Amino acid sequence: MARTHTILRKHIAMKTLRLLLGDQLNPEHSWFKTVREDVVYVMAEMRQETDYAPHHIQKVVAFFAAMRHFAKERIADGHRVRYYELTDPENPQTLPELVKKMLGEEGCESFEYLLPDEYRLDQQLKTLCQDLEIPARSYDTEHFYTTRDALAVHFEGKKQLVMESFYRMMRKKHGILYKDGAPTGGTWNYDAQNRKKWKGSPAIPEVTQPHQEDLGPILRQIQESGIRTIGQIDLQNFHWTITTREARTLLAEFCERLLPYFGDYQDAMHTDEKNLFHSRLSFAMNCKLISPREVVETVETYYYNHPDTIHISQAEGFIRQILGWREYMRGIYWKEMPAYARGNFLENKNPLPAFYWTGQTQMNCLKQAITQSLEDAHAHHIQRLMITGNFALLTQVDPDAVDQWYLGIYPDAIEWVQLPNTRGMSQFADGGIVGTKPYISSANYIRKMSNYCETCAYNPDHKTGERACPFNALYWNFLDAKKEQLRANPRMGMMYRLLEKKDKSEMDALKERAAAIIANPDAF
Ligand code: FAD
Ligand code: SF4
Repeated sequence: MARTHTILRKHIAMKTLRLLLGDQLNPEHSWFKTVREDVVYVMAEMRQETDYAPHHIQKVVAFFAAMRHFAKERIADGHRVRYYELTDPENPQTLPELVKKMLGEEGCESFEYLLPDEYRLDQQLKTLCQDLEIPARSYDTEHFYTTRDALAVHFEGKKQLVMESFYRMMRKKHGILYKDGAPTGGTWNYDAQNRKKWKGSPAIPEVTQPHQEDLGPILRQIQESGIRTIGQIDLQNFHWTITTREARTLLAEFCERLLPYFGDYQDAMHTDEKNLFHSRLSFAMNCKLISPREVVETVETYYYNHPDTIHISQAEGFIRQILGWREYMRGIYWKEMPAYARGNFLENKNPLPAFYWTGQTQMNCLKQAITQSLEDAHAHHIQRLMITGNFALLTQVDPDAVDQWYLGIYPDAIEWVQLPNTRGMSQFADGGIVGTKPYISSANYIRKMSNYCETCAYNPDHKTGERACPFNALYWNFLDAKKEQLRANPRMGMMYRLLEKKDKSEMDALKERAAAIIANPDAF
């Protein structure tokens, strides 16, 4: 009698390793919709990430705190997560070593990762995947409105990549502040109404301190590891949102309390009110705890539901920053990298003044913006552009040095967004890809938009002489020094006509003073 054998074949699914980077903390990602036994996630606090630039201590703490929370939440949801803290002796500290170690230990037969937003990591992961002898696959982070190449496609065949054109396309495509074939309120852009000086009123409402938990253990690990950081930290006053829940609370409070005046005072600066009406959502968004879609749609809905308190210029002024500028900068980055990181159109070579690391200068605007950056790890857009960025450009600092400073000092600084803002918009090192002309100003603009000049050691009205505001001589000297590169720019025509009207003796005096400042900025 023939014996029949029943072969029971137990189906063993192929085990997969999934990598999550520190800025890929998107709890809504489709990866987390189902708990899979055949998937193990890996996250690690790595020296390769803490050491590629000197970061602000608050930035390192915020990232690690957000990562630890994210891992805990996923574990609580039932996912399997291997997490390496910074000081774990088993932590390989580099990405390739981490992935290889995990693949071996977990016996994984495939590797998956989310597309990184930085070119550096993108290259590293591609190289790693070529070395692996198992299948590897990348997935979208499901965070941005656009794909990496959407901007390049939008501007295909065009000479100029004008943000406004991209922004209008985004408004139409996503139906944001756009109804019945027209922009809400009848106008696309209310930038002209976003330039009020803040003079002590309206009062700036308090926003809840987002984070209460003890971050002492993380701070101690960073200190014990000897990581080189910059700036200060006060754990009793730590204001970075490190969970999605905190980010949503901040967004709700922003709509209720700050949005009514956000647009009006978007460009204002003040010694007593560092944050004014800004949202401080950039860190939470950049590590993907909250999506730009959620932020934009929440603000849009709030605007439609509160026509008596929110004017279109406030809502549009805010939405433009995210739906417009943020997505645009990302598109520029992916279109232009890696050459973009080397651009130095104006051939600037000077070192960054030492006071950028201490705040010790008599120039009050710089002192305020830099001290605030060191103490709070934050400065808003106009402080970054028209104070620290403006001075670096006028003193013709090497854009590599400027990039290093901006990349480290703010928790929201991740290269995809930092680089086009710094190298492009602020330093014009891209020769006009992001901005049609350099963002430079003399003391006039700073006095108009802030109260900094009122308590400054220098006089904003004076152009030469010991007490003359350094920005004045530097401004005219810059135009003169960069004539060859900028004179033909149609948007600079008026500035050059004014420059050409100056008589020689005035120009000589301005250039002499500028040369003294550039030679020793730390003496001013
Ligand atoms: P809000 O004023 O409340 O604006 C809301 C949101 O709009 C921000 O959270 C941010 O996500 C977005 N946004 C506003 N302006 C820009 C912009 N120009 N590009 C991209 N997104 C924008 N932003 C970063 O996120 N990371 C950076 O590394 C960075 N570096 C900068 C460097 C320079 C020289 C300059 C001029 C700007 C830089 N910015 C950067 C843009 C801007 O300064 C910050 O996004 C903003 O100050 C963050 O604070 P907030 O969340 O309170 O912004
Ligand atoms: Fe800055 Fe000049 Fe005004 Fe002083 S006077 S705060 S240096 S712009």
